[in-house]
Amino acid sequence: YSARYVEILEKWKKLPVWVHKEEFLKTLKENQIVLLVGETGSGKTTQIPQFVLEAKWLVGCTQPRRVAAMSVSRRVAEEMDVEIGEEVGYTVRFEDCTSSKTVLKYLTDGMLLREAMADPLLGRYKVIVLDEAHERTLATYLLFGLLKQTLVRRPDLKLVVMSATLEADKFHKYFTGVPLIKVPGRLHPVEILYTREPQRDYLEAAISTVIQIHMCEPPGDVLVFLTGEEEIEDACRRITRNLGDHVNVLPLYSTLSPAMQQKIFEPTPDQVRKVVVSTNIAETSLTIDGIVYVVDPGFSKQKLYHPDTRVESLLVSPISQASADQSAGRAGRTRPGKCFRLYAEKSFNELEKQTYAEILRSNLANTVLNLKRLGVENLLRFDLMDSPAPETLARALDDLYHLQALDDECNLTKTGEMMSEFPLDPQMAKMLIVSPQFNCSNEILSISAMLSVPNCFIRPRGEAQKAADEAKSSFAHIYGDHLTLLNVFHAFLQNNQDPDWCYENFINYRKMKSAVSVREQLVRIMLRFQIKLCSPDFNSKDYYVNIRKALLSGYFMQVAHLERTGHYLTFRDKDDQVVHLHPSNCLDHKAEWVIYNEYVFTTRNFIRTVTYIRGEWLVDVAPHYYKLANFPNSEAKRVLQRHFKKRRLSE
Ligand code: ADP
Ligand code: MG
Repeated sequence: YSARYVEILEKWKKLPVWVHKEEFLKTLKENQIVLLVGETGSGKTTQIPQFVLEAKWLVGCTQPRRVAAMSVSRRVAEEMDVEIGEEVGYTVRFEDCTSSKTVLKYLTDGMLLREAMADPLLGRYKVIVLDEAHERTLATYLLFGLLKQTLVRRPDLKLVVMSATLEADKFHKYFTGVPLIKVPGRLHPVEILYTREPQRDYLEAAISTVIQIHMCEPPGDVLVFLTGEEEIEDACRRITRNLGDHVNVLPLYSTLSPAMQQKIFEPTPDQVRKVVVSTNIAETSLTIDGIVYVVDPGFSKQKLYHPDTRVESLLVSPISQASADQSAGRAGRTRPGKCFRLYAEKSFNELEKQTYAEILRSNLANTVLNLKRLGVENLLRFDLMDSPAPETLARALDDLYHLQALDDECNLTKTGEMMSEFPLDPQMAKMLIVSPQFNCSNEILSISAMLSVPNCFIRPRGEAQKAADEAKSSFAHIYGDHLTLLNVFHAFLQNNQDPDWCYENFINYRKMKSAVSVREQLVRIMLRFQIKLCSPDFNSKDYYVNIRKALLSGYFMQVAHLERTGHYLTFRDKDDQVVHLHPSNCLDHKAEWVIYNEYVFTTRNFIRTVTYIRGEWLVDVAPHYYKLANFPNSEAKRVLQRHFKKRRLSE
């Protein structure tokens, strides 16, 4: 055995779950389902699947987050002294690192749901571990419901549900009569400090708190929670600039490269303090040893959905008390620690007790499509831990109907069946399926791939920013951002996928490589359904018209109209929203009609990734939708009525 292996072995035998190994295996032998609740870092994710392996069963262990699936499987491969992808592997969306030898597979809950669609009995598995159940993600919820049914039909299949200590009672109630094993934590006390006043700028406050900790507190690593990639990179740069070589500042977020992810686990030299700046992934999914100080601004990015406007968006929102307590706990793993909450104690008391389950905050169109595909007839009777609001469900059915995935009787159509095979949102899937009608499926594939790995442009702060903006404008297409993305993709291929070319053009090389790989996988799905791969003649004047019409054929429900007041209004059938073009857009003028990919709220409502379209195309591409809807927006409505009339006359 390697020295590294012996070192790991020593460490892992000390994890709290080891005390319960015999009890756990005995309980699992005697029961079909076992619930296991244990403090974060007690060894659930890394050890329990290995315990099960000893019994020579094929094991699948889900993780809500792809980074966790990748990072944890690497760790377990190391613990078992095997290469990743051999006996131990992982599968996440658009990436499969397993082989015929794999006996322990970590995968995202979304991937297991997809596998269940292809094989509802999940015949490949002997044991399924649904981990991080307390995160209450949509996919894990659906798997609960599905597996309850599968277990009845497959008496030999075992299910282990694992969660951190949050809300154990709720799970126990849902899985009535199922044995519960509790792994007591080993937490040291954590002193909680609040600010006297609410902070105006939490990013500033977080950075200055880190500096203060470094100046005034004894040795010990720091974990700072922030909300997203840009903010985290910004904070890392500024902390490094202030504290120089005395600290090792490391970012952690979902799109970080695996090598960078692994760095957070490496110990730093004596005299150097490690500062990890992370999204809430470090709250329970990944445990970093040696953290003594936690900085908690009290915000995270959360998915929110308004069924009235049908807008689903990621919003920086206040965290819940349960989240804040979990975060604080990260400071007490090795020894007594401190948690600096960047808000007043009064504000803490006003926070929600628990984070709402994802199913209550999501657009359910994709979920409904998946459940339909799985043969769940009555959605309202499907056994869920929390039921979504009826209007959210109604909206989802409505959207799928407009996308022609469901027929009048609410049955899945042929198109709907195909759509469910794409690991994409229903609009994008629809757009790909119908793109050959516009003779541009190749282009739509490239655009879809680029949309699936968002934010390929690097925009540093400081001096380099101007150069970055100039580089970006060289790709800009005056008709909009989707076409700009297409330009970037084509340029990347023309330059032989050269990393230096990316560097010079402020393009994220790794994201471009993933876009290429995503595209290949989408092509495979297209070919499986014999959807034609085709391109319009580049020299034809209709080249871009066709592509934009194809975009519209999927995203016709995401359209905004420029009013005479100079504002854009989203154009949906219930409620209009004033929105603004996101400053990152490439349009050369404020077009009358635009199609948008997403809706973001920062200081105000923005639509991001926008492309200019023409009003009469709405009538051509989605007459069923625009004819039926009773739009309140009178200005845009009048314009549309004119188009309908013109169309009738010409017919
Ligand atoms: P739980 O799932 O109960 O929260 P884990 O099994 O994730 O606990 O963690 C057990 C231990 O393994 C922790 O001390 C954690 O730091 C360590 N660990 C997990 N992943 C890695 C990794 N990629 N590299 C190094 N250590 C890791
Ligand atoms: Mg875990």
